[in-house]
Amino acid sequence: MMLDGLYQEIILDHYKHPHGRGLRDPFNGEAHHVNPTCGDEITVRVSASDGSFSDISYDGLGCSISQASASVLHELLQGRTASDAASVHEAFVELMQGRGQVEPDEDVLGDGIAFAGVAKFPARVKCALLPWMAFKDAAARAGVDVSSEVSSEVKA
Ligand code: ZN
Repeated sequence: MMLDGLYQEIILDHYKHPHGRGLRDPFNGEAHHVNPTCGDEITVRVSASDGSFSDISYDGLGCSISQASASVLHELLQGRTASDAASVHEAFVELMQGRGQVEPDEDVLGDGIAFAGVAKFPARVKCALLPWMAFKDAAARAGVDVSSEVSSEVKA
């Protein structure tokens, strides 16, 4: 897989120095997702109160893309309101399902733009989306609905 050098550097940096990694208490929703095609696993916990995510913690193992994506998710969604988180979530899913045709908005996605190159590789899209789908489930279990409009189905 060939990624643009700068994007690759951002992903590797999140992989080596993950933000907010480790499962924390308290939490009111948790989800564990696996990506059997690559062997990635992720557990995401959310602490949601007053309509915002006061903490998003996670732990997992797997490839650099799946683990870096969890770090970026933490950075982007931690402390956000449910509706803010939903729009960022939607933008990331849209980017990943765009087969490399979607131009990412850095104002919305921050370091998430580094995954634009990954979108061209269908097998790796599942890696990048894994933490985001786990987050969506964890949020639902906490009673917060994010990105109800977006299908979690990835067409490989
Ligand atoms: Zn993977």
